[in-house]
Amino acid sequence: MQPNRRLSDFLPLKFANGQEIKQFSKPCVACGKMLHAKHMHGVARLIENHIAIAAKAHCESCGADFSVACVINSDKQVKRVVLPRILFNLYLRNLPLQNQETAPSAYVREQPLPEELDAREDAAEYRRAGPVKPSFQPRDIVRAEESLGRFQEKPIPAWLILDGARFEFDRIAPDARTKDGEYLLDGCLIYRPA
Ligand SMILES: [Zn+2]
Repeated sequence: MQPNRRLSDFLPLKFANGQEIKQFSKPCVACGKMLHAKHMHGVARLIENHIAIAAKAHCESCGADFSVACVINSDKQVKRVVLPRILFNLYLRNLPLQNQETAPSAYVREQPLPEELDAREDAAEYRRAGPVKPSFQPRDIVRAEESLGRFQEKPIPAWLILDGARFEFDRIAPDARTKDGEYLLDGCLIYRPA
């Protein structure tokens, strides 16, 4: 379950239509002073097309505490929630994170994002592979008409004639690493002597 936090830590939240909630305010029920997200403690979640908020507000000016339970739609209209704030709060905190939802930074740090893990794995792979060796530079390159498919919008020639020697397509190497005797075409296609 997610912890309750200052509401301002959850903002901004962005709807799928591009509308963004940067600030959330509500007048104090006792004295009418305007309270902002930093005066509220609870949870704000993006659920499909709505932002749901269940928090406790504390007025610094008169000391009043009161509940905030509402749903904001993507036209920024605020609707009250009839459910008691405490139940609504528990429900929201137990919901798994949604796709477009930005997790507050504290959660991100606990669990790295998939992109971050990918980047780390790539970096480790580059270290294992060692420095890039320059592949040989033929003066005369003939590309086969026959293609084995496409990679990054470009055809993959089945073979090459490099300075009169035939090379067969071996593999795609997005990291551009070749072994001895191999030839790198277009920065990512590897050919081996036939
Ligand atoms: Zn007040």
